Amino acid sequence: MPFSQLGLNPKINKALEKNAYKNPTLIQEKVIPLVLQNNDIMAKAQTGSGKTASFVLPILQLFLDKEEKKEYKSKAKISTLVLTPTRELALQVSKAFIDFSEYFVNKPKIVSIIGGESLTQQLLDIQKGCDIVVATTGRLLDILDKKQMNLSNLEFFVLDEADKMLDLGFEEELDKILQIIPNNRQNLLFSATFEKKVENIASKITQKAIFLSIEEKSIVQNITQRA
Ligand code: AMP
Repeated sequence: MPFSQLGLNPKINKALEKNAYKNPTLIQEKVIPLVLQNNDIMAKAQTGSGKTASFVLPILQLFLDKEEKKEYKSKAKISTLVLTPTRELALQVSKAFIDFSEYFVNKPKIVSIIGGESLTQQLLDIQKGCDIVVATTGRLLDILDKKQMNLSNLEFFVLDEADKMLDLGFEEELDKILQIIPNNRQNLLFSATFEKKVENIASKITQKAIFLSIEEKSIVQNITQRA
């Protein structure tokens, strides 16, 4: 099935083409339509399955739908928060948002909130107005503790690689963040495993998610094998 059958905006399809994404992976084929229909999702999927685009693309599509209806551009408000276990993954996710929104007239403002980089710059970027925050938990809490970020307009909450986040001991930080963000939001959770501790955090995030288990081989492995 080609991407064109998923009903994404031509501006997104153009970026997919530029990035040599021809056909969706299994997780993309399943998750994208469900996110577009505003469902909460819990997906058991490995790194390399294409999980990043499975949440980035529909979030961008819903952003675009809203932007096209607006008559004037107000200052951006944070509508999406993605939490990742590592800085590297946060940067990768931010890059996917940037790459796939390349052809938007009003591009979403994306800020990576990660440790090891200038806090002052990140605070400035937030104050200027941003739509999408991709963060690791520690730095995000530093900023939230300083009351420097308003998450009251949040619409999407994405927890990427939840199992890894819990293995790294971020449960308490996650709990704190969950107490701060508004309850009325769409939740997307991705994890390579769904053992007890993941189920535990998942139940705190949402009670109404559609659960998907994608056992497809990693697209990265496939590419390596062919090479
Ligand atoms: P992820 O599991 O999201 O980390 O993706 C693994 C790798 O596969 C990344 O390098 C992606 O850019 C690439 N990828 C994901 N989906 C597709 C697709 N549908 N077509 C081609 N490459 C893809």
